Amino acid sequence: MMGGIFGKTTSNREMVELQIVGRGISDERVLNAFLETDRIHFLPEDKLNSAYSDSPQPIGFEQTISQPFMVAEMTELLELKSTDRILEIGTGSGYQTAILSRIVREVYTVEIIPELSQRAQEVLRKLEITNVRFKTGSGFDGWKEFAPFDGIIVTAAPEGIPEELVEQLADGGRMVIPVGMRYQIQTLFKITKVKGKSHIKNCGSVAFVPMVGGPDYI
Ligand code: SAH
Repeated sequence: MMGGIFGKTTSNREMVELQIVGRGISDERVLNAFLETDRIHFLPEDKLNSAYSDSPQPIGFEQTISQPFMVAEMTELLELKSTDRILEIGTGSGYQTAILSRIVREVYTVEIIPELSQRAQEVLRKLEITNVRFKTGSGFDGWKEFAPFDGIIVTAAPEGIPEELVEQLADGGRMVIPVGMRYQIQTLFKITKVKGKSHIKNCGSVAFVPMVGGPDYI
């Protein structure tokens, strides 16, 4: 993979400036979280030279670490506050998890592939991040024990909006979720719960790996 329109980006700072600030992300807390969290820690050994590339990268098990800008955009859409408790579905590399952990009080993250959850836990431990709880299992169930959440971020795409996740969103809470058919272009939705009612906004087209093991999948 070439460096794309930005050529070869060689540092985390340059990645933030060109790909994230350069595309209009302006929330200071989001930008600081990215500057504090070097993406190189989240790539497998054989992908280190793509650490700052403007694209998703394979992390094994047919999964990917998301494009930095996508992580930034979803994080900004969540309108995070420092007191928030956030649920993340799809821990993957732990990159998005680490970014969230820099901004909010607590992050609860669920991953269906045990090896990925394990690896992410080790990376976050090395980075001395201590406000994250990990669970291995299906994200369709959310994490009832710790609900309701001020924000929910889903980083794999289900074919519809899972009822149970909306259920676990606090009043005033925000959920950011890609929805669509497997391996087709999906739509990023932002759902805001106000007085028990869900308001849905279309935030454009995206491409995520499928959310597996749900009611629509065999
Ligand atoms: N935020 C991650 C993205 C990882 S890709 C990162 O930037 O690294 C999406 C992840 O969702 C994959 O690790 C995949 O295994 C996981 N996933 C897929 N279906 C899931 C489900 N039903 N429950 C929990 N995690 C799921």
